[in-house]
Amino acid sequence: MLINTGIATQELIKKLIPSPERRARGPYAMVECFQEIPCNPCSTSCPFGAILPMKDINDIPTIDLDRCTGCGICAGVCPGLAIFIIDESKGDGTATVTIPYEFRPLPEKGETVRAVNRQGNIIGDGVVTRILASKKTKTPLITVQIPAELVYEVRFLNLIDDKSNSEEPSSTYQSVVTDDLSSKVLDTVEIDDTAGTENDEDEIIICRCEGLTLGVIRDLIREGYTTVDEIKRISRAGMGPCQARTCGPLIASEIARMTGQPIAEIQPSAHRPPVKPLPIEFFLGGDSE
Ligand code: SF4
Ligand code: SF4
Repeated sequence: MLINTGIATQELIKKLIPSPERRARGPYAMVECFQEIPCNPCSTSCPFGAILPMKDINDIPTIDLDRCTGCGICAGVCPGLAIFIIDESKGDGTATVTIPYEFRPLPEKGETVRAVNRQGNIIGDGVVTRILASKKTKTPLITVQIPAELVYEVRFLNLIDDKSNSEEPSSTYQSVVTDDLSSKVLDTVEIDDTAGTENDEDEIIICRCEGLTLGVIRDLIREGYTTVDEIKRISRAGMGPCQARTCGPLIASEIARMTGQPIAEIQPSAHRPPVKPLPIEFFLGGDSE
């Protein structure tokens, strides 16, 4: 179950897969956001109005794939890293998936990387075809070419070469315009060779409800708070309306990275009801959901 594992089920993913005609037409966004959380940058950032306006900030985003050009702006601003750009239009047995990637160092264009599924398992290899970093979005987008049959599975990448000793950020950010519609947006995206420095990353908001940045979380981990629950108690991360549905997996991932533990060994924080925001009328005996 998604609520227990944080991993979307096949049933939920299948509902997002568009018609064969839309898949053949060109790139599109897969918005893998299935829980009601107080978040809406995907909707407010889309220059084509493809992610429909939300009546309530807790609404689950709805996308109109006829308007979506696959430009990737939404994927770069989603704090939950929940949006992926899929392009199956080549029809040659390969497809590309564009992945928001917050780790360093970045891969380089042309590099072979390990293709990783939602469960964290390596399921094949891919080749990096584009790296897009922008001052607007902060989160770099890595486009990876993979066998077409894996395009609904691959959601992360692992580097093969250990470049962790490299001090220099990659200087190979490249914007590749693939069609007229996307060029309208990509032309306005400023390529920033300084994106990806630790200072830049430290400004990324991890817990939107409590306004906590990645820098704050990293400082706490360095001070010895190395479980999600400890960080929750000292900082209130995960105690806001979304109840850790956005920040919990991100904090766990950062603990794993900084302490060298496998992500599977990082325990999520304890949950108590209600597991989602409820109107006060619910507790007063009025209308319930
Ligand atoms: S990929 Fe671009 S056009 Fe499609 S929903 Fe995202 S921002 Fe809008
Ligand atoms: S987590 Fe991402 S997809 Fe979900 S509402 Fe926020 S910006 Fe949109």
